[in-house]
Amino acid sequence: MTPAISIVIPAYDEASHLETSLHEIHRHAAALERPFELIVVDDGSCDATWSILHQLAPAIPELRALSLARNFGKEAAIRAGLEAAGGDAVVVMDSDLQHPPHLLPRMVELWHVRNYMVVSAIKQHRGGESLVSRFAAKSFYRAFAQLTGTALKASSDYKLLDRTVVDAYLALPERNTFFRGLVPWLGYSEVTLPFMVPDRAGGHSKWSPLQLLRLAADGIVSFSSAPLQFVTIAGLGFLAFAVILAVHTIITKLTGAAAEGFPTVILLMLITSSITMLSLGIVGQYVAKIYEEIKARPRYLLKAEIRPTPATFQVTAQTPAREAEREQSAAGMTLRSATPNHLRSDTPQNRRPSQDRHSAASLDP
Ligand code: UDP
Ligand code: MG
Repeated sequence: MTPAISIVIPAYDEASHLETSLHEIHRHAAALERPFELIVVDDGSCDATWSILHQLAPAIPELRALSLARNFGKEAAIRAGLEAAGGDAVVVMDSDLQHPPHLLPRMVELWHVRNYMVVSAIKQHRGGESLVSRFAAKSFYRAFAQLTGTALKASSDYKLLDRTVVDAYLALPERNTFFRGLVPWLGYSEVTLPFMVPDRAGGHSKWSPLQLLRLAADGIVSFSSAPLQFVTIAGLGFLAFAVILAVHTIITKLTGAAAEGFPTVILLMLITSSITMLSLGIVGQYVAKIYEEIKARPRYLLKAEIRPTPATFQVTAQTPAREAEREQSAAGMTLRSATPNHLRSDTPQNRRPSQDRHSAASLDP
């Protein structure tokens, strides 16, 4: 049996072009000439995304769609898709064609023929992005690399993961995830595939500058405790400064040459209080993350699902039992959803040989 591919596509308010995107992705997936499924995760869209998926279902037999109860964010949508996926390899790609589906055959070849466990598409050119967002992205990746020791430059969420990697990712217990950072952290053999980012197929990007800032802060905080060292370093710096200033103040006082002190005091107060508040903010970020983690809420909740069946498609509203199963899965009690994997080929001849887990390489498409 030929190993099967699952393609996970998070979609949030993408009604304007979803039909075009899915037909295009489907065309390239069908050309792979192997079993595949398209798993579209509607991340609580407010537009017609879900009804379009209903309309498309009869025409695309490989389509499976999940509807999240509200907008849980792209990370949760990716997670939901990975849990539902049954393929021997899983590709995660955006629904706006900014992750070009024509790379699919090359990605599958690098995985299946060259035995890489992870194929990561990296942005060679960031398309029509503004100078400001390019600068912001560059600064973030530089800060991320320095703080976490993981270089993510130009990386994207467009990745193919072997089943082993998917299972390892789903076994991570944390709620705050950063997909494109965590996959390299897992350490499996990875190859990069550069691509030019085309314009969106329609609609507009869902990230506001504030959301991007939050995403960047979350990415760093969920990955590294280095910012906490800043608090200690700033504290030590100020201690040294305070000792020097104290000695200087005592000497000038004793020699009767004490300076008029008001502006100095104001300045010192402003500097120390801003450093104190900044430090409290950094500590607060980590406390907030710990708070979110210990609450252990489900990462997402499912509202409805469109599932392919051999004859026709069935729309299943979520029963309490199924939601409980999902919640358990999302809470990390089980590694994967108990959904039978109609696509999975676990036969010995289809299991992949053990791989070098720590090599990385880069290839042109
Ligand atoms: N997306 C999502 N949930 C969100 C925001 C975005 O599922 O809360 C999806 C979106 O539908 C798209 C992908 O994530 O398929 C990338 O989003 P977008 O194109 O807005 O981001 P950009 O390409 O600008 O990074
Ligand atoms: Mg996009």
